[in-house]
Order: sequence, then structure tokens, then C-alpha cells
Amino acid sequence: MRMVRPTVEQLRANYEMLRSLPPFSRWEMPPVERVEFVLKGIRRRRHKGDKPLRGQCVYLGRKRWRVYVAPHRELYGVVATLAHEMVHIHEDVAKLPWSTRRGRYIHGPSFQRAADEVCRELGFPRACF
Ligand SMILES: [Zn+2]
Repeated sequence: MRMVRPTVEQLRANYEMLRSLPPFSRWEMPPVERVEFVLKGIRRRRHKGDKPLRGQCVYLGRKRWRVYVAPHRELYGVVATLAHEMVHIHEDVAKLPWSTRRGRYIHGPSFQRAADEVCRELGFPRACF
């Protein structure tokens, strides 16, 4: 199957584009130098009902992050996934309260409010977040 596999440079350029647009431009998003990008499929122990991960964001400490983006069938999905992972960075930077269920991170109310804003301003369908 044909897949869209952006290069690290292309992911960096997309990050910069999103970072320059509201709501990200109003948030204190780290400069691209503080974010590592990795294009790869993401494997993890699956739990019943989990959707496959299309991206993942890992805080590395010292105000640095690593963002994984899986290849997607459509470019649109790559950009939406990157925007989703950027909301996670925003959660860290703005110290939004995390929500967990049985010790696992979940996309709680703070994430959802920020995602609402991203979707409203940039036109991503809310369901893709
Ligand atoms: Zn997420």
C-alpha cells in the first residue's frame, strides 16, 4: 500500500508551520531545535479497545521532546497527528493537569479543551484527534 512517509526535515517544516499558526502561536511552543522527530510505526503493548497509535510524544527532560509519527495513507493524517502530538507538548509546557485511569495517561479534559481549540482554529475534524 502506498504510504506517505515524510522525512525528518519535512516533519520539522510542518512543525514550524503549525507552530506559527493559532492556537499554537499563542502557546509557548518550543523551538523546533528542542523537538526530535522520528518517522516510524509505533509498537506497544496493546490494550483491548486501544486504537493503533499514529503518533507518540515523549518528554526527554530539559525542555526537549521526541515526537514519533507513523507513516500515514494520507498527508492530511501526518499533519493532524503532528498537531495532536503538539497538544501533548503544550500540556507539558503549560503544565496542564494530566488525567490518568488505572495509572495510565488518558486524553483528559485539559487535553480535550486544547484539542477543541486546535480543531476550531485549524479546521481538523474533531474525530481525528
Ligand atoms: Zn495523544
